[in-house]
Amino acid sequence: MIKKLLIANRGEIALRIVRACKQLGIQTVGVYSTADDNLMHLRFVDEAICIGGPNANQSYLNTQAILTAAEITGSDAIHPGYGFLSENAEFAEKIEEAGITFIGPHPDHIRLMGNKVSAIHAMKQAGVPTVPGSIGTVNLDNAHQQAQNTGFPLLIKAAAGGGGRGMRIVERYEQLDKQVQAAKQEAELWFGDDSVYMERYLQNPRHIEVQVLGDGNGNAIHLYDRDCSIQRRHQKVLEEAPAADIPDDIREPILQACVSACERIGYRGAGTFEFLFEDGQFYFIEMNTRVQVEHPVTEMVTGINVVVEQLKIAAGYGLSYRQNEISVHGHALECRINAEDPHTFMPSPGTVTQYFIPSGAGVRFDSHLYAGYTIPSYYDSLIGKLICHGQTREQAIAKTLQALDELIITGVKTNVSLHRDVILTDQSFVMQAQNIHYLEQHLLSSTIP
Ligand code: ADP
Repeated sequence: MIKKLLIANRGEIALRIVRACKQLGIQTVGVYSTADDNLMHLRFVDEAICIGGPNANQSYLNTQAILTAAEITGSDAIHPGYGFLSENAEFAEKIEEAGITFIGPHPDHIRLMGNKVSAIHAMKQAGVPTVPGSIGTVNLDNAHQQAQNTGFPLLIKAAAGGGGRGMRIVERYEQLDKQVQAAKQEAELWFGDDSVYMERYLQNPRHIEVQVLGDGNGNAIHLYDRDCSIQRRHQKVLEEAPAADIPDDIREPILQACVSACERIGYRGAGTFEFLFEDGQFYFIEMNTRVQVEHPVTEMVTGINVVVEQLKIAAGYGLSYRQNEISVHGHALECRINAEDPHTFMPSPGTVTQYFIPSGAGVRFDSHLYAGYTIPSYYDSLIGKLICHGQTREQAIAKTLQALDELIITGVKTNVSLHRDVILTDQSFVMQAQNIHYLEQHLLSSTIP
């Protein structure tokens, strides 16, 4: 049983977690930085506690402050949300050492998957296909040998990387040493770990991922897949479920391989296996050991509440569903709504003056915004997620367009026009699923109103 849960996060996901806790009768504790005392979820929690200054490393990344808050409030569980400390194995370990339940996998599994080199190795052993690439890490001594095995063009990636940062494309041998050196420096700077590895740079893949749930005792299920190919600078902009136009005989073995990999290691909680998909083949790239921003599209098509399942698993109730009880109904799309200038993509913090959200059957808006709310400049620019469900992909797109028309957020700039005028009205997107380069290429020939 979990009695009182501390939410070690902010924004829309904090509110999302409060809702799941209330559904299960769990008391909630909200934490906030000094820049965040206006957060909406703080009005709905049972207790709220300030954990430090506005910079994330003073508050949302401050393990000790969060642990102290949990102890003062007598919390018996902590949900890390996504981002911040959600994939930090030491954080999870410290929580468990303090006798508090961490809503997530065993710290060893966070560590295993947090290093992409060890994650790829583990997946290969479990029989999951991976991108052709280096064996282990790459340094100046072995770069040429590793590149020969990988093939050009290749991508140098940080083993500890995330957020689409620290990737370098190398076209030819002559560029190799310089790029390896630069990639290592960059990796050290951003992730505090200079390990890098290589992967063949796939030319036109789609990004497709599989949602899984494991009970920690060797049982696991999948909640089907999502397509997250609509990206800018390797960051997701719009996601959908299920991934369109993939024959069952290609999809099924991958879903099964993800389940088997979880069962094999005794994975606990929610997780996502990310793949690139090109010419009918799946290639594993990484696993995220937390709830993802785009989990609602899966909820819309399966009817399963992923955060509620996380809590039930952590409380020891096991899996609520058997695989044969899970199926996909219709199609769902999620638009990430950011407070940003639609032309420059620069963040646009400020005070929201008018706020109206669309609703109706199959329309969901996950957000912490309200009129009068001031979006601080310290954190991510995500201010909401519009998720729409339809019987078909075409209907889901039509519903999303209608909902975007109804969505009113004034006072700050948003990327609503990027979704409405650039992506969702573009016939090539409407007609069929696109690859990871689509948005950047399409932006070259589009004008955003
Ligand atoms: P991060 O953890 O930083 O998000 P990922 O490994 O998940 O990094 O990759 C992010 C994105 O980068 C992918 O969705 C894809 O668009 C692109 N990418 C990653 N690996 C490759 C590759 N081998 N070939 C082509 N594109 C890639």
